[in-house]
Amino acid sequence: MSNLASSTPPASTPTTTLAAAVAVRPGYRLVPALIGRSTEPGTIVYVECPDWCTVDHVASRNVFLEDINHEGERAALQLPSDYSAPAPVEVYLSQWPASKDDKGLTRLAVDVDYEVSTYGRTAALAFADQLVAFAANVRALAETLPEEAKA
Ligand SMILES: [Zn+2]
Repeated sequence: MSNLASSTPPASTPTTTLAAAVAVRPGYRLVPALIGRSTEPGTIVYVECPDWCTVDHVASRNVFLEDINHEGERAALQLPSDYSAPAPVEVYLSQWPASKDDKGLTRLAVDVDYEVSTYGRTAALAFADQLVAFAANVRALAETLPEEAKA
């Protein structure tokens, strides 16, 4: 006599049936997204979402379907600083499927103190090369500093 045996399976909805029937591009998955104004219950739709996207498209509701954007995990440069307002530097993958400027392509987003620029592959690689060169300069200068006394 199990309580589980008497439970009925969840009814399938038209939405889940649709999700199972739609072919998704490689590297993408169908995920639910909540669309609508915060004063309304909203509508759940299923959107293609790249595998690297970490956005919960239900928790972060959009008013319009065209406002959905995909963002990857953020990598942050934590600058050692005594200043009360250090400039955060973050990079992450970003995609705005409805964007006419980016044509919906995945870009590298670079957030410097909340000013976000996006770059395509060539510019992103050039940016990475600059950071590597900058890091080498930081290391070279740091290595000229006198040894610190051991505590
Ligand atoms: Zn997404």
